[in-house]
Amino acid sequence: MTYKAQEDRYTGMTYNRSGNSGLKLPAISLGLWHNFGGVDRYENGRTMIRRAFDLGITHFDLANNYGPPAGSAEETFGRILKEDLQGYRDEIIVSTKAGYLMWPGPYGEWGSKKQLISSLDQSLKRMQLNYVDIFYHHRPDPETPLEETMAALDLIVRQGKALYVGLSNYSPEQTIAAVRILNDLGTPCLIHQVRYSMLERRIEEGLLDVLQENKIGCIAFSPLAKGMLTDRYLHGIPADSRANSNSNFLNPEELTDVVLAKAAKLQSLAQERGQKLSQMALSWVLRGGRVTSALIGSSKVSQIEDAAAAVHTCDFTEEELQQIDAILNE
Ligand code: NDP
Repeated sequence: MTYKAQEDRYTGMTYNRSGNSGLKLPAISLGLWHNFGGVDRYENGRTMIRRAFDLGITHFDLANNYGPPAGSAEETFGRILKEDLQGYRDEIIVSTKAGYLMWPGPYGEWGSKKQLISSLDQSLKRMQLNYVDIFYHHRPDPETPLEETMAALDLIVRQGKALYVGLSNYSPEQTIAAVRILNDLGTPCLIHQVRYSMLERRIEEGLLDVLQENKIGCIAFSPLAKGMLTDRYLHGIPADSRANSNSNFLNPEELTDVVLAKAAKLQSLAQERGQKLSQMALSWVLRGGRVTSALIGSSKVSQIEDAAAAVHTCDFTEEELQQIDAILNE
């Protein structure tokens, strides 16, 4: 049946401006790293994207290598765009990235102009798009001069293949240097994509300040610590979970007694706030307005619904924040 988006799709979501740009992003964005590959069930991915869009989630995050196999998440997303969302392209923010290993040889990864331009051309083909909204350099390259990588990002925008550019996984110092070059080129950095959750707070030690000082947005990936900050693993490892899949990205060994004990205590606190643990974890990432968007992954529609409902409860009392810190520091 032809998909028609919910009329009221913009009533429930919050939209935050990314730095001092003109672009607002939904407080919850959906990433296609897992569960949208060629090995996954197409109809499940399709249902999740449609439900997300109906809930006001306008931003979908990809990368050249998402799958498996690498590239197939972009193909899946391109198909969904074509089948369901073609009439809504101007309401959607699509991002992709280059920098991790994608094809053999010296140009298949890192940060050369050759890698970035070729990779984005491939991504556009896979998604059947003329342009993406945000194009990221996925990780810093220790060998390519930063000037070359940033010039490639600038060129991509001038060619109309991306509207905005972003950085991912750059340190505070690397970010400062890259931002300076981008500003000189006239293509400011829109946003930084970085890991941030209750279990991974390194960005509080410098990067968040750099982003704020330079008026750059922050999109926090893995805000649920790949599922560890949810009720998913509180009673064992479910058969359909990431920890039980062939993904190397959530090793069951990460689910230590210490992590699970913290999750159980955080869950009790969340319940006192009238939330699920997953929702409190997202509200916490978004607290105080320093993070533009929390970038979740999902395997089921219900997880997207949980996340979308978390955006209205980002206020924490001082006491709640202290309780959370105490649990995390145990
Ligand atoms: P999350 O921390 O949000 O983990 C998502 C997983 O948590 C889901 O797959 C699901 O696991 C579980 N989950 C989600 N919601 C719930 C819920 N309500 N209840 C119970 N379990 C839930 O993020 P990801 O690690 O998936 O990363 C999100 C996105 O960030 C990626 O898709 C990608 O776009 C981006 N990213 C970027 C990186 C970069 O280097 N720039 C690196 C990594 C990610 P299950 O599948 O078991 O159901």
